[in-house]
Amino acid sequence: MRKQIAAANWKMNLTLEQGETLIDEILSSPLNVNEDKLAVFAVPFPYLINVKNKLAVKKNVFAAAQNCYNKKSGAYTGEVSAEMLKSIGLQYVVLGHSERREYFNESNAMLAEKVNICFENGLQPIFCCGEPLSIREAGTQNSYVETQLKESLFHLTADQLKGFVIAYEPIWAIGTGKTASSDQAQEMHAHIRSVLAAQYGNAVADSISILYGGSVKAANAKEIFGKPDVDGGLVGGASLVAAEFTTIINSLK
Ligand code: PEP
Repeated sequence: MRKQIAAANWKMNLTLEQGETLIDEILSSPLNVNEDKLAVFAVPFPYLINVKNKLAVKKNVFAAAQNCYNKKSGAYTGEVSAEMLKSIGLQYVVLGHSERREYFNESNAMLAEKVNICFENGLQPIFCCGEPLSIREAGTQNSYVETQLKESLFHLTADQLKGFVIAYEPIWAIGTGKTASSDQAQEMHAHIRSVLAAQYGNAVADSISILYGGSVKAANAKEIFGKPDVDGGLVGGASLVAAEFTTIINSLK
């Protein structure tokens, strides 16, 4: 069975103290996690070690980085390498979030390099894809997302892609309060899985967790996660509120 994942994306929010309080509140609530249902917290770089240590009291909850650089090491002031993340014992890294693509010009080709460097360091990417509003309005979202996947992932072997994690996040639904309907999410997730199956076969496609992201909240998580090809969510705003994110974790199927 592929993993169901509720992943928090704190983005550039919260002080360390606020973040630790949030984690404490979430960990003190009953969490329905197990080996197949995970909670992941993508937190700002300076908090990773603290958050990772806090989460160590509970199984099946993990810290994640929100990004890493596409070079191994060297004169790249201000950047963080995959090797550094590995050295603090991380397993997960969010790559290619639409905010990074837009504000930091991350291209599909650059993301392919980031994926490679994560694999070289034993890190599992949570690879984000998704179309802007203009593409959705033009009705070409399927081929847009397909190109993102092909250009950043399709150089990988079937073995590398087995158990991979993708987050489909329509940009028009991120932080806007405008959620894709559960049917729109299912439609795209099924498309993504069919594209993966055509390239790598059904077994690999079925092993890949495809998370939905875009204004997921406690009130809509169960319906969205209930769709057959939706394997959880990547959550921004609602992950900053303990009661919201706890309910979201407990909405995984
Ligand atoms: C995100 O940051 O990936 C996201 C989906 O944000 P929000 O849940 O706030 O729309």
